[in-house]
Amino acid sequence: MATIKIIGIRKRIALVAHDHKKADLMEWAVHNKVELAKHELIATGTTGKLLEESLDRPVKKLMSGPLGGDQQIGAMIANGEIDMMFFFWDPMEAQPHDSDVKALLRLCVAWNIPMACDRATADFIMTSPFMHSEYKSAQPDYAGYLNRKIKNE
Ligand code: PGA
Repeated sequence: MATIKIIGIRKRIALVAHDHKKADLMEWAVHNKVELAKHELIATGTTGKLLEESLDRPVKKLMSGPLGGDQQIGAMIANGEIDMMFFFWDPMEAQPHDSDVKALLRLCVAWNIPMACDRATADFIMTSPFMHSEYKSAQPDYAGYLNRKIKNE
């Protein structure tokens, strides 16, 4: 049977933007300042610093993405400490930490975390009624994987 995780009214929101997408994310965040004020914000280092300046409020800042920040968010997701993610990644430029980016996107899917990678999806998530209520998030059942038989060869 699937386990249910209750996501509270105050969400723990992770925000990340690649350099060419930072202006986009800031503009979006300022537009959604009132709504975002109701939630806890966690961000990679540079994105977090810019968000604090743009929104004039504290943001939990992790390391800069390429220095481990993406992986820190991934670890928080695995620990159940992030409820949703807004990750404006750049489709036009290879990143030095491409493998970290991919790992982070994968963990969001692995743990059923709502994720917006563009502004339109971000708008749809922010205007969802679930932003103002609890949400029962079905947790994937990995029991089959965890209890798999490993053959000693
Ligand atoms: P940054 O990291 O916010 O520290 O620039 C973003 C990223 O993951 O590239």
